[in-house]
Amino acid sequence: MMTTSMTQKTWTMTQMIPVTERAHNFSAGPAALPAEVLEQARDEMLDYRGTGMSVIEMSHRSDAFIEIAETAEKDLRDLLGVPADYHVLFLQGGATQQFAAIPLNLLGDKNSAAYVNTGVWSTKAIEEAGKYCSVRIAASSESTKFDRIPAYASWQVDAGDAYVHICSNETIGGVQFHDLPAVSVPLVADMSSDILSRPIDVSRYGLIYAGAQKNIGPAGLVLVIVHKDLLGRARKDTPSMLDYKVHSKAGSMSNTPPTYAWYLSGLVFKWLKAQGGLARMAAINRRKAETLYHAIDSSNFYSAPVIRENRSWMNVPFTLADAKLDKDFLKGAEARRMTHLPGHRSVGGMRASIYNAVSQDSVDALVAYMAEFEREHG
Ligand SMILES: *Cc1c(COP(=O)(O)O)cnc(C)c1O
Repeated sequence: MMTTSMTQKTWTMTQMIPVTERAHNFSAGPAALPAEVLEQARDEMLDYRGTGMSVIEMSHRSDAFIEIAETAEKDLRDLLGVPADYHVLFLQGGATQQFAAIPLNLLGDKNSAAYVNTGVWSTKAIEEAGKYCSVRIAASSESTKFDRIPAYASWQVDAGDAYVHICSNETIGGVQFHDLPAVSVPLVADMSSDILSRPIDVSRYGLIYAGAQKNIGPAGLVLVIVHKDLLGRARKDTPSMLDYKVHSKAGSMSNTPPTYAWYLSGLVFKWLKAQGGLARMAAINRRKAETLYHAIDSSNFYSAPVIRENRSWMNVPFTLADAKLDKDFLKGAEARRMTHLPGHRSVGGMRASIYNAVSQDSVDALVAYMAEFEREHG
């Protein structure tokens, strides 16, 4: 059995790590969170506002948690400007589970859906939907190695399609929609890696979904924002836990929701409001992305694979002139406390994810290191 003194010793050692040593964290997900949010969570960890317990320990039906849940939803609605005729659901299962939930809920009496293929995440969504309906590829940039969004004029969406699915930001490939096409069927968007990075017009979408662990909060939570007209048409054999109507009727508490992730996301929403909301975040995020792309474009040593118009503000993949230098580059980055820079295992190279919680300072530090490395090795 562990003695009290041992427990205390471990605790003291943990406490000794000063906050100033936080890394420049370029992780694609789970990803950086604002230090202020983590500090508040720390302060509230043992006694949430006089309840005598952690949020982790309280019933999801308790007054304290209901207030946390409702406040988080309200703040999210304020931030994104979610119209009243949309439901907001706080669910489990990640964005990946939504790949199945979407066709199960939205097909209704149709048996086809249109998907735009812009990379790894679109491809996964397409594969899963193919189990439930006939998937029509409305457009694809596979032939150019997913370096762009296919021109809107080329999209083939049919009135018989139940919806058209896009991935607004391809986390791995670094391709992002910076505007939207006009489509005649409900638009469904996987916004896992760019939700809350800038203002959007929710009314243009039938459904938006986003796993939390990129730009919202901890893993274990996925947000679904869905127009009320798309509820209540789930296939009969849809598992209750995948049925949006079941969740919306129960306020996302049909079973135990991911309470702590919900709470922490709520703290992030408050933090975003305190920063000045999404218009302000957009200005900050645009500047961070421009800093990094400018460094890449103005060198002969680094290159970015995505065409300029469709480059992501959130995930910036880039390669070095010689892949043999990748290891050295990463070693030097680690020494400067810059973490998670290797590109996804499926593509290689580098990728810097610069979500809301990654500061301009971290981007500046990366750019300075890149210049230094180029001088030595270029
Ligand atoms: C990370 C990610 C997913 C998968 O999210 P999980 O929560 O792991 O299921 C899906 N789509 C996009 C765009 C992502 O970035």
